[in-house]
Amino acid sequence: MPLNTAASSRMDTRAITNAPLATVSAQLADAVGDMQPVSFRSGAVLRETDDTENVFFLDDGLVGLQVSLGNGRCVEAAALGRDAVVGVESLFRNGARSVCRAIAYTPVAAHALSRDVVVRLVGESAAFRHEIFRALGDTQMAAMRRVACARFHSVGERVARWLLIARSHIGDSIPLPHAVIADALGCRRSGVTVAMLRLRDAGVVSYTRAAIRIVNPAGLAQETCGCAPSAPDASAR
Ligand SMILES: [Zn+2]
Repeated sequence: MPLNTAASSRMDTRAITNAPLATVSAQLADAVGDMQPVSFRSGAVLRETDDTENVFFLDDGLVGLQVSLGNGRCVEAAALGRDAVVGVESLFRNGARSVCRAIAYTPVAAHALSRDVVVRLVGESAAFRHEIFRALGDTQMAAMRRVACARFHSVGERVARWLLIARSHIGDSIPLPHAVIADALGCRRSGVTVAMLRLRDAGVVSYTRAAIRIVNPAGLAQETCGCAPSAPDASAR
């Protein structure tokens, strides 16, 4: 299972916190060679569109699924965090490439399994199968919501929504510059800057060039378009 070793590092042991993977931890204990704990730096690529072999079970961090438009531009289809499965959309497509690559927005901890092992475990464990299908459904729903949101809602509402989703995955401290949000939403950086100024003036966020802090989550929720899905609250973990 070749991995991007420039962007990832092998770790000897690490607890599995990803919910889908935890359901089969007993089976994996008998085949520990099947599983690789990996970590990625901010900006690293977990999975390119033509990586049809690796599936990543996220333990921590924030990952963007980005669709390439073929002219050097990308737009985010969904932002994923702990308990998500990266590569789930291509699991059952006989090795066909994905339309998405996966980027680590923050440092990411995950466990990697080969597609063949995941498909085998889906057949062996009803609990794992349920979790994989849930992860597939969650990713699909997030992408569908994103399409409608991008078409009908303002940049300011979408920025607030994106921050709320990021918060659900990594908590109130979001170590990202505004440019990453602009790229994720496929909008101008100036539009994000205007939205962030408004949120700061409203006492909802504070920020520096490289990091954002959400200081009033309830106020942030009121600034969104209402598309934000209910999600686990990382700040409460
Ligand atoms: Zn929306």
